[in-house]
Amino acid sequence: MGNLEVVGRLAPSPTGWLHLGHARSFLAAWWSARGAGGRVVLRIEDLDSSRARPEFVDGVLRDLQWLGLDWDGPVVLQSERREAHRAALEELAGKGLAYPCVCTRKEIDQAVSAPHGADGEVVYPGTCRDREGSPERSGWRFRLSDSGDVGFNDLLAGAQVDSVAEQVGDFVIWTKADEAAYQLAVVVDDAFQGVTEVVRGEDLLASTARQALLQEALGLHHPNWVHLPLVQDGGGRRLAKRAGSLSLGALRDSKVEPQAIVQWAAKSLGMHGEGGTAQDFVEPFHWFNVPGGSPRVPSDWL
Ligand code: GLU
Repeated sequence: MGNLEVVGRLAPSPTGWLHLGHARSFLAAWWSARGAGGRVVLRIEDLDSSRARPEFVDGVLRDLQWLGLDWDGPVVLQSERREAHRAALEELAGKGLAYPCVCTRKEIDQAVSAPHGADGEVVYPGTCRDREGSPERSGWRFRLSDSGDVGFNDLLAGAQVDSVAEQVGDFVIWTKADEAAYQLAVVVDDAFQGVTEVVRGEDLLASTARQALLQEALGLHHPNWVHLPLVQDGGGRRLAKRAGSLSLGALRDSKVEPQAIVQWAAKSLGMHGEGGTAQDFVEPFHWFNVPGGSPRVPSDWL
């Protein structure tokens, strides 16, 4: 039997300013773990060296503290986990579950046989699957078994069955720029940090099956997954990191108090109690009270 302690995580990418959608997911993750008497770990997902910037790391830390969220143990920087990521890649390659791929995105997009999967993703036609030898400048892909069908349960979205073969095919786990891909890094680092509960936006629901496959291939436990519907702006569009006006920093500058954001997030997650600080909502938080559907940003913040 493993350790039964709940370990939640906050896993921001420092590629932009955090917005209300991040605040809501982070509060939910924190309330869930703290409410279970568990720990919360923080990991900065700064692998994308072309987009991650130090000022965004500072911004993330400031925003979390401003919201009243804390975490246990050291802050893990994903960029410092390269050796562990590489070891996982080698383990997969050693098992015949990863292969080098020299295709460029353009080549993949142009392959006549590539049907388009869900969410605009392109299904990899398997061009490099049976290539002989090890090319010099290559990325790596995970080799799917026949269908890549994966079943898992999401606490809010319910039972899911995804066909990874139909969604993306053999997916990239190491980029041609010689960096671990998100799917591999997240799995290796969640296991390293002992994460038992992953709470994040619904836009990552489609990645979960890929992560479950990697966990199985690497002999790692599955965490519990919860994907929250995305927060929408006044026009019903999802918030983007580029849309700076609803960043937490911009709200802070226009004198919105953190308590107001905590209160809004709490209400959107099915809590009606009074209170203001994040701590005040640890006890009343329960997943079964969380309503479905996307919450809207209050009009006076737009
Ligand atoms: N770092 C990712 C993001 O900020 C989240 C990854 C995850 O929660 O698995 O979009």
